[in-house]
Amino acid sequence: MSAEKTMAKETVKTKNMNDLVALCKRRGFVFQSADIYGGLQGVYDYGPLGVELKNNLKAAWWRAMVYERDDVEGLDAAILSNKSVLRYSGHEATFADPMVDCRDCKSRWRADHIKNGRCEKCGSKNLTDPRPFNMMFKTTVGPVVDEESYAYLRPETAQGIFTNFRNVLDSTSRKLPFGIAQIGKAFRNEITPRNFIFRVREFEQMELEFFVEPGTDDEWHKKWVEARIQWWRQQGLASDNLVAYHQTAEELSHYSKATVDILYRFPHGLEELEGIANRTDFDLGSHSKNQDELGLKAKVMENKDSTSKLTVRDLEANKEFVPFVIEPSAGVDRGVLAVITEAYTEEVLENGNIRVVLKIKPHLAPIKAAVIPLARNNEALVHKAESIKRTLQSLGVGRILLENTGNIGKSYRKHDEVGTPICVTVDFETMTESENKPAGEETVTVRDRDTMKQERISISALPEYVRKYFC
Ligand code: ATP
Repeated sequence: MSAEKTMAKETVKTKNMNDLVALCKRRGFVFQSADIYGGLQGVYDYGPLGVELKNNLKAAWWRAMVYERDDVEGLDAAILSNKSVLRYSGHEATFADPMVDCRDCKSRWRADHIKNGRCEKCGSKNLTDPRPFNMMFKTTVGPVVDEESYAYLRPETAQGIFTNFRNVLDSTSRKLPFGIAQIGKAFRNEITPRNFIFRVREFEQMELEFFVEPGTDDEWHKKWVEARIQWWRQQGLASDNLVAYHQTAEELSHYSKATVDILYRFPHGLEELEGIANRTDFDLGSHSKNQDELGLKAKVMENKDSTSKLTVRDLEANKEFVPFVIEPSAGVDRGVLAVITEAYTEEVLENGNIRVVLKIKPHLAPIKAAVIPLARNNEALVHKAESIKRTLQSLGVGRILLENTGNIGKSYRKHDEVGTPICVTVDFETMTESENKPAGEETVTVRDRDTMKQERISISALPEYVRKYFC
């Protein structure tokens, strides 16, 4: 088999959203939802490789936040939300962005996205004053549709954690400090969805609510900001592209005492990837009955509907108190976009050709290894490749793909573009005796995505070789 021209130098081209969108569509990462009907604005579907990448990113988060700690439990709460939850959380009254309408072309914009007082679509200055627009999706539940039968699609996963606080506490006997982690869909009727999967109307969040004693909250807030930046680095994001931004008092959400946003250098600019908020005792307090007895720092309104006090007991003082909450809240879709942005690389090869390669961390790669028989019509090669695929698949490192196209060059190009760390090629030397290998040994060629270096190894050594890539 002829070796590739492995000399390559990275281009210094700035990352460009169009290149990423084109790659995502071409290779099956992300599609516009319902595109055969013209799409649905701000809604995307994840294709065969996108779902793998997304699952890998969520699994990495779950491992770090739940399995590798001893102070966090998991949860999967419902998306359909009782309206009282979102009334007492303050979302009915305050979960709104100011928007303006263009009187000329009838388009609608977020007031803080408007530049120079002009409509982005037609350039008109004939705009309405800003007014609040509630971003929650309403729906009805049950067979009767009336004033009272409405519910919401949750705008954040957090509220399901707060309303289950007592259930988790009672069923696990946890003591402070401890956290509850959840990954799931959230919905916001964004006025202006934009920048591909960065701002969408249906997205996924990875949220932790970490409950602490009041007074220790500032310290825990700091710790979580550091831990979360560190985690994003482990997902391959460069330190230079990550910035911790402390929100100003005017920018804080209604529930927050302090919020640090982790910003990432996306192709469209430096923007929020994750927010880490000190939500104080706001939410647990708001969802508790008889709030006046609890000495809360903040509350939205007296709660007449809750049947529970979301408190813990201070045994020394012999009284109930409401824990404070630190919330690291990250977007899965923004995470996927950040990982792809960081990994996307174009290299000029020795022969002048451009190689597109996704230098994604192996644990996030949608396909861990491709097994390629050199000729698709050769039964012996294909058989051997199938058997190698089965062996590698059983290692449990993720998806192993049998790539039976018969075109080795094309296969390498494809697997570079989708970030497959290793290609295993079964060729005519595999089963024949040759001076390159010990007698009786069957060998294959393995090719490394980043260096394009190829080496011949025996099939019996392959599982260990592959396992090492992903540990
Ligand atoms: P932004 O200011 O960009 O609208 P936010 O501050 O409202 O975001 P949070 O309420 O803090 O966002 O939500 C936590 C995380 O959820 C964000 O850091 C982001 O990663 C993700 N997220 C929020 N809104 C969207 C959206 N419309 N599309 C994709 N991800 C989102």
